[in-house]
Amino acid sequence: MNPDTFNAISPYLEDMTLILEDMLQEDSDNAKRLRHALTEISKALGTDFSVDLNVIVQAFSSREQGALPLVQIGLSSDNGDTPYGHSADCTPQRYIVGGDIQVVPRDRCPKCWEDWMNKFEYPICEHCETRLGKDCKVLLDSDLCPFCEAGHVSMQNPICDNCGYEVDLTMVTWG
Ligand SMILES: [Zn+2]
Ligand SMILES: [Zn+2]
Repeated sequence: MNPDTFNAISPYLEDMTLILEDMLQEDSDNAKRLRHALTEISKALGTDFSVDLNVIVQAFSSREQGALPLVQIGLSSDNGDTPYGHSADCTPQRYIVGGDIQVVPRDRCPKCWEDWMNKFEYPICEHCETRLGKDCKVLLDSDLCPFCEAGHVSMQNPICDNCGYEVDLTMVTWG
């Protein structure tokens, strides 16, 4: 997704995330009944299952025949316990792909949009074989460590002062 498009939609995505989180946890009759139903389903399913209620906002590309999840939020229950909230990390990550800047949620491949977790440890997308460092690079716009997102890294000092991760300078570019 090009950065302008992502910028245009991201305030609405943030809004929807906050509203949905609120709605699922609120004290209204409907929300209480949803949580109650989830708990009862979990009890009936027993210990072999957990049960999720998910709300997903996604963009579907008819050209790529693929969906890009933009917000993923929900409730889960295990063993008949009170449901707890969960959400996927859909924060945006910028990439350079074929000379263009592309933005997708952090856990997605910038090329095929399928899931691509821990891309620094597994630098090849298992769905389209895009290779980090060769076919695309993570575009860092700050000195925040792309691994732990708490420490700092730079071109001169690629070892994170928080987690010790060494940024492979062939996989990233600063812009
Ligand atoms: Zn891919
Ligand atoms: Zn780090």
